[in-house]
Order: sequence, then structure tokens, then C-alpha cells
Amino acid sequence: MTTRRHLLISLSALPLLGFGLPVSRAFAQAVETSLAGDTITTANGELVVHPVQHASLLLGWRDQVIYVDPVGGGALYGQLPSATAVVVTHANPDHFDVPTLEAVATGSIPLIVTQEVFDQLPDALKVNATVMANGDEGSLNGLSIAAIPAYNTTPDKTKYHPQGAGNGYLIKFADKIVYVAGDTEATPEMLALKNIDLAFIPINQPYTMTVQQAADAINTFKPKIAYPYHYKGTDISGLDALVGDEVEVRLLEWYANG
Ligand SMILES: [Zn+2]
Repeated sequence: MTTRRHLLISLSALPLLGFGLPVSRAFAQAVETSLAGDTITTANGELVVHPVQHASLLLGWRDQVIYVDPVGGGALYGQLPSATAVVVTHANPDHFDVPTLEAVATGSIPLIVTQEVFDQLPDALKVNATVMANGDEGSLNGLSIAAIPAYNTTPDKTKYHPQGAGNGYLIKFADKIVYVAGDTEATPEMLALKNIDLAFIPINQPYTMTVQQAADAINTFKPKIAYPYHYKGTDISGLDALVGDEVEVRLLEWYANG
């Protein structure tokens, strides 16, 4: 663990040093994040977005590393900073995997889950898990978190993600609000969101949104930055052109492992 953290700290310190910051400041900043990825400046330190694969991602901020929908086996996370909390959007296997959770949710860290996920957790993880229903608000290691409904709205698709079962999450890091949409179409609740800084938007058929649906949703609630994710097998190259100039579309590497 010590060696792993030290390596990550060294790597992430390099670009900061390159910008001519005092060494002590740069090092302190790097210790806070200790996670490589896309960075966003908040009012209190850098927020780091680290895509793992498909729907799995890490959010690093100060001493927090939030694992979102970790699946794929513990080895996939072995070189990454340990989780300080885990959130799970719903029970489908590309979002929820008990062996992976058992590997990453160690040390009594808190888990935020849906009822359906909770019911499938082993007792050792249930102890640290909190169920959030659609619309619930709470705190996760001192960070504000809210559960936004995630569901299909097209009549013949509601079987994939029925209303009430799945959550998206809003998590606030200092002055920045992150929205991880989960598996959903453009629900009224999504379209009514305001002041979102970073939004993770799922794209694939038939389970979530088409590229056009995603663009329409993004153009409606206008996050400052939109990250398409959950698009395995889908060509999303047309998305950026469909999204207005007010929103920056950021493409990350979600499928490095195929
Ligand atoms: Zn999914």
C-alpha cells in the first residue's frame, strides 16, 4: 500500500512541478489527490475523474476517493488508491458485482446503494451500507449526496430500468456538483437539474440513450462539462457536434481493456 501510494504521488506530482509551483505546495496538492485522471479545479483543491471502464469510475478529491459502480474484479483496482467510499447506482451486473465490492470496500468504508443492491449484499458489506431511495439526500464522508431517479421513459424499454429501482447521484465537492446519471433516459428529474458542473451521461441501446437523446438532454440541463460513458459498442463520435457551445464534451478512455 505504501509503495503504491508513493508511486502514484510521484507521478501526479510531475505536472504540477512543471508549472513552477513551489515544491512543497505541489507535493501537498499531489498527496491530496493521489489519483491520475481528468482534473477540475474546485474552490478547495483539484477534483480528479478517473475512468476505469464502461460505467465504473473513481472521483478523487482531497483525501477522498469515491468508487462509482466498481465491477470487473478487484485486480482492476489494484494499482489505484484505495476507496474511501463506494456508491452503486443499481443492481445490473455492469454496475454491481459482489466480489469486486468485497475487494475494494475494505476497512469499513461506507457504501451508498439502492434497496435492490442492498438486498444482494453479503452481511459484511450490509453493515456499512446505506440505502438511498430516489430523491433522498444525505452525507457521504462529509460530502453532500443526493439520489436522482434513473429509469427508462420509453414505454417498451421500461423493463430494463423500471422507475424507482435505480439511482443517479449528485455529489458535491466544494463548489462543484458532479452528476453520475446511472442507467437512465432523459427523465424529467434529469432535465430539471440546475448548476451541474460535471455530468456522466450513459449512451447505449436499448438500455439507456441514443447519441441524439443524450445530446438533447445535455442541451436541456446544460452541465458545464459532459462526459459520455457507458457506451460500449456505440459510435459516439457525432455527439460533440450535436451539443451546443455552452457545454464542453469531454471524451475519456473508457474502453482501454476492450
Ligand atoms: Zn448499465
